[in-house]
Amino acid sequence: MAKIFCVANQKGGVGKTTTTVNLAAGLAKVGQRVLMVDLDPQGNATMGSGVDKRQLALSVYDVLLESASIREVAVFSEKCGYHVLGANRELSGAEVELVALDHREKRLKAALAEVAGDYDFVLIDCPPSLSMLTLNGLCSANGVIVPMQCEYFALEGLTDLVNTIKQVHANLNPDLQIIGLLRVMFDPRITLQQQVSEQLKGHFGNKVFNSVIPRNVRLAEAPSYGLPGVVFDPAAKGSQAFVEFANEMVDRIRAM
Ligand code: ADP
Ligand code: MG
Repeated sequence: MAKIFCVANQKGGVGKTTTTVNLAAGLAKVGQRVLMVDLDPQGNATMGSGVDKRQLALSVYDVLLESASIREVAVFSEKCGYHVLGANRELSGAEVELVALDHREKRLKAALAEVAGDYDFVLIDCPPSLSMLTLNGLCSANGVIVPMQCEYFALEGLTDLVNTIKQVHANLNPDLQIIGLLRVMFDPRITLQQQVSEQLKGHFGNKVFNSVIPRNVRLAEAPSYGLPGVVFDPAAKGSQAFVEFANEMVDRIRAM
């Protein structure tokens, strides 16, 4: 049975997509069967997995509107080693169309139930908002991975997300929990980042992953080649950190 994780943070540009595609590639590299679900109409995780969003005949949009199943829509990225349930701009319309439909926040959950036996991990890249799309992700998931930069106000920025997760846990998905906070774009030379990192550990304890993703230009270059950094340049520091994180996730789900 697949374990399902949302990569979420209501802020944009914090490293959600980078985390999703590199964790997916890292997990595939260590032998896990992975489905990556792109829930962001920008389609960056799709493109960053070597799948051209403009060429998609079917996308996650069709799955949410129940006009296609995941098996019909997902494509295998040969280069990356995982399946991709892609997204493109069409998905931004789903937000409005879902409002009138029954079980609108549980559409993805129902669709994923059909393929639960096909994968070890499902990773969902969420848009930078607490929208109906993100809600579909949170309703489907066993846990949330929260990438965050160790900046001033980092803790305050988490409040909305933590409250949303609590509400979804109470009303819609009793399985849901924060699996962990992932420190990303980390630069240990910056004293403030070290201080915020310590604050995070003080506040969230073992909910802070041991793995730390450094700021690494190779991770930022990889998307322009349509690849996760882990595939584009496996030797890069950032790529190695993501493979280490993949191993940490494998250990965590054994303990779940
Ligand atoms: P989000 O999905 O939260 O909007 P992205 O994953 O797209 O964030 O990251 C935002 C920008 O930061 C992108 O240009 C990405 O390439 C870059 N980036 C993300 N993580 C790193 C990192 N560890 N080192 C350097 N650049 C990074
Ligand atoms: Mg993104």
